[in-house]
Amino acid sequence: MNPEPHEPTSVAPPSHAEDALSSVWMKVRACMQCGTCTGSCVNAHAMDITPRELWRMVQLGLKDEVFASRTFWLCSSCYYCTLRCPRGLPLTEAMGALKRLAADEGILKEKRSPRFYRSFMDTVRRYGRVREMEMMARYFLALGSPFTPLAFTPLGIRLMARGKVAPRMPRFSGPGKLDALYRKVEEVEARS
Ligand code: SF4
Ligand code: SF4
Repeated sequence: MNPEPHEPTSVAPPSHAEDALSSVWMKVRACMQCGTCTGSCVNAHAMDITPRELWRMVQLGLKDEVFASRTFWLCSSCYYCTLRCPRGLPLTEAMGALKRLAADEGILKEKRSPRFYRSFMDTVRRYGRVREMEMMARYFLALGSPFTPLAFTPLGIRLMARGKVAPRMPRFSGPGKLDALYRKVEEVEARS
């Protein structure tokens, strides 16, 4: 079991405490830069900055640099870093908070990662699992570009030929299997 979070050892004064980053700063202010989160993260190889670096940037109030990163969009909420952090910090919650803040403030709206993440989560909410065809249909619609699907056509054909994806008609309305769970999580996150 993780210990209680310690007080910070060396962090920037919270001059940015009133801005959008303050709630995340509170979660990671005691980070001691040991790097365990980065070493534990299965997605770190695809991130532009490591989780450890991200938390240091939050401590320093580097808002523009934090939101310019795609690191938090690539977090798949596996909770491994949270489990292993020797400071007991709520790192997965902090990643989720960055996603919400970026979406709420319209930050990175021109980038693809938020739209991909939203398409993934909406599909899971509806079926309790990912349905690749529908997720990609949602993603392409969100991008609003008629040419983007063409670039994925060869990959889609290969995956279908190998039985990796099943062609099903997307459903964009009606109740989702995980609606109640998602609503509960939204309630909890709004309070944290
Ligand atoms: S594991 Fe915890 S203390 Fe170590 S770098 Fe990551 S957030 Fe900081
Ligand atoms: S919760 Fe996110 S940041 Fe933490 S180890 Fe998992 S994928 Fe990486």
